[in-house]
Amino acid sequence: MTFDSIIGQKNVKKVLSDSIVSERVGHAYLFHGPAGIGKKLTARAYAEAVMCLHPNPDGTACGKCEACVLNKNHSNPDLKIYEIQKNKKGIIIEQARDIVQDAMTVPYYSNKKVFIIQSGETMNLAAQNALLKILEEPPKYVMIIILTTNIAVILDTIKSRTSRIDFARYDNEEIKAILKANGIEHVDESALAYADGIAGRAISFYNDDKINEIRGNVLKIAEGLAEGDAAYRIESAEYLASLKKDTEFVIYTMLSYYSDVSKVARYGKSVKITNKECENPIRMTASRLGFYKAQEIEKIINKAWGYTERSINIEVVMSNMLIQIQEVING
Ligand SMILES: [Zn+2]
Repeated sequence: MTFDSIIGQKNVKKVLSDSIVSERVGHAYLFHGPAGIGKKLTARAYAEAVMCLHPNPDGTACGKCEACVLNKNHSNPDLKIYEIQKNKKGIIIEQARDIVQDAMTVPYYSNKKVFIIQSGETMNLAAQNALLKILEEPPKYVMIIILTTNIAVILDTIKSRTSRIDFARYDNEEIKAILKANGIEHVDESALAYADGIAGRAISFYNDDKINEIRGNVLKIAEGLAEGDAAYRIESAEYLASLKKDTEFVIYTMLSYYSDVSKVARYGKSVKITNKECENPIRMTASRLGFYKAQEIEKIINKAWGYTERSINIEVVMSNMLIQIQEVING
């Protein structure tokens, strides 16, 4: 694993590889960004580069020395990756103590001993305080990388002793490249929308049946609205509101359905649509509503989208959205 094989994150890669070239590698880093953005992959690549005994002039790992060979086999005892243990809610104090103790001994085979702590946002105060011991006076050969999705829960004393590296969201071209590297050639618009700039989400769109189930259900609700009664609407709003984590995707899917409707209403049957599996109901709705009504519905959904970002009561937002859509359909 080298930086070159990581797609995107240009700034992060530049900062880290520059630190190696200029021999200014820090003792401790805080990698910050949403889950699935590439923090772990990058931490590993950085670890392998600083552990290498004979790095290339550009700061990359040689791939041939003892440290590199062991890293390739995932069997280098000088690289420790800490994750949440089974049946535990977060990184625990015992793990932090383990790091402090382990850091006392020099690396066996490598230029540095590296500790990667995943899910740093789950460390409670006790664990963070225990970890501080090593951050206050790190031995020269030690590097610690804490990965976190939430910077607010990290102690100021840890923040001030670590270099913070922020991971940016990917653009759609980068997401496509990452999907391609994962064997997915044909990328749907819905996948990009669901991913929202996060590679891990894009990959789970194709591997996680639950997401496709949600998409199917939301499209079914959109289809059924024309005929549905109040009970149908209430039940639908409850369901949509229950998908808390995926609210954006829910709204996007609704919107994509009605933008297909307005496209067909405006340009006719031959226009390319996003939700091909709903082609028939989309055509029927298009001829029933016409372009202006379809556009009106798109506006309603967009407005609801704005409300979901501010509102605590998502069920009310969803319910109002469905009521307004039905009013336009039947009005
Ligand atoms: Zn090497």
